Amino acid sequence: MQQSGSGARVTPWGLRVWGVTVLLGGAALLFALERMVRHGAAGRHGLFIALGAMLYGIGLALPVRGSLRMPRQVLRRLRVRVSRRRSALSAGIDAVTGLASRSWFVHRLNLALGRMSACREGGFSVLLLDLDRFKLVNDALGHSAGDDLLRQVAARINAALRPDRHLVARLGGDEFAVLLDGVGEPGAAERIATRIQEAIDAPYRVRGHETRMTASVGIIRSEQCIACADSVLRDVDTAMYGAKRSGPGRIATFALPMRRKASREFGIETELRKAIGTAQLSLLYQPIVALDRLTADSVEALLRWNHPRLGVVDPEEFIPIAEQSGLVIPLDEWVQRQACLQWRAWQDRDPARAPCSVSVNVSRVQMAYPDAFLAHVRAVMEAARMPPGALRLEVTERDVMRDPDAVVDLLRELRNLGVGLAMDDFGTGMSSLACLRRYPFDVVKIDRDFIADLGAAADVRAVVHASVMLIESLGMRSVAEGVESAAQVEFLRSIGCHSAQGYLFGRPAPADRIVAREPLPGERQAAPALVSSSR
Ligand code: C2E
Ligand code: MG
Ligand code: MG
Repeated sequence: MQQSGSGARVTPWGLRVWGVTVLLGGAALLFALERMVRHGAAGRHGLFIALGAMLYGIGLALPVRGSLRMPRQVLRRLRVRVSRRRSALSAGIDAVTGLASRSWFVHRLNLALGRMSACREGGFSVLLLDLDRFKLVNDALGHSAGDDLLRQVAARINAALRPDRHLVARLGGDEFAVLLDGVGEPGAAERIATRIQEAIDAPYRVRGHETRMTASVGIIRSEQCIACADSVLRDVDTAMYGAKRSGPGRIATFALPMRRKASREFGIETELRKAIGTAQLSLLYQPIVALDRLTADSVEALLRWNHPRLGVVDPEEFIPIAEQSGLVIPLDEWVQRQACLQWRAWQDRDPARAPCSVSVNVSRVQMAYPDAFLAHVRAVMEAARMPPGALRLEVTERDVMRDPDAVVDLLRELRNLGVGLAMDDFGTGMSSLACLRRYPFDVVKIDRDFIADLGAAADVRAVVHASVMLIESLGMRSVAEGVESAAQVEFLRSIGCHSAQGYLFGRPAPADRIVAREPLPGERQAAPALVSSSR
């Protein structure tokens, strides 16, 4: 590399051009001199041309950096622009399905929103579809089979719509979005969503296997949309999750209260994350009373959260949020460890009055990771030196029914560890009485809604009676939940129900107020509180 006089870098190309220009300039000079000699003043302008050509050559060659590189810079810029265009084009297409990509969908949605706010015209609707149980296909048949299925779903969505009018995109994973242009009136988008669902519903053939799919759909209409595409997608996502919560293959249309609910849920999730490991969380214990002796042989640990600003948050509200976010795993691990250590403390203090066992609720999320779950249970039982049966895990009937085969394997392994097992909220999860024998439960807890209706409905009494008979005949123990009156106790005893839990015997209370295995004086039908009233 050489340096020009001005300090600019002279490129080899610059040198070459300079050389050629000088040669041409020299030739032109010779030609002009020869014409001057031959024709006198008439050829004078030829000299000027030659001088000009030389000067141009020198001028072009010397500031090589600025002038000669300019065309190359322009070329480079052009090349960058072309490659940007090309990658923008490919970013606009989802590589797996060939549908529009998320970024292209967002771009088009923003344009539609812009049109709406500019002229208050051009109503539209957005559908968000999420396949139910798609993960099972991915896990069972592998990711390329999953991709195959996604392509088939994409083709069916397209076929159910007019592609020239509506935009279909894959947002990622098993999530699809549809922008229904010109469809803004209530009811219209729902009809299209149903049509798409029907198309998705038909059987698929993936790698030689036949499978079925359903999709949960959230809908938002343009009149409900605010500001930007991101907020619209957030709102329609809220609607879609609402649909998913009510079961597979459902449709839910966005409504304003959903936005408030979603923002509260977001707040709860954020605060709960911070609350783990702090004094905001505590455990209360509720006695489970043997109805023949009226003694509290066992207790159930129930989680409480007292937040400085939100106040006491109901577990029925925060547990589902913790399940969605995965926070339930550290939360339940903490509950299980605390409850086991508390059982050890009761035993060490007064073994004669300590509860024989402590029950703890288990979430389906924790059960989805069986190895980690089993290792954790083993560790906490060892830490609290618990004999077999001292820890009882409660699994709701609904969670059992979500994936009965996987749960039954896990339950057997837990049983081998010496863990007692209870089916919780029996009667709410659509299992048949007959399938109870498949599971290694030693306790079945009849849901409190049945117990609350005992006095009012004869058919409920018949169902509870039949349930108790079957549970007991299978060698399991029946526990009635939510017992609040002496009349309920009388009925439950008359049908042979083993145990009961409810406000009648004691509300959930702190560990130091639990007085277990205290026989009640006399032959009373119903027990007074087994939780001591002194604080
Ligand atoms: P669950 O396991 O069925 O617990 C029994 C619920 O019934 C408790 O509600 C208890 O306070 C309430 N209860 C007890 N006796 C009566 C009564 O006589 N009348 C009425 N109306 N209610 C009664 P809680 O503590 O609000 O817990 C609600 C649910 O939250 C629990 O239902 C359980 O599914 C879940 N949960 C509570 N703690 C935990 C936990 O540590 N982990 C997990 N995963 N879930 C938990
Ligand atoms: Mg329970
Ligand atoms: Mg229950």
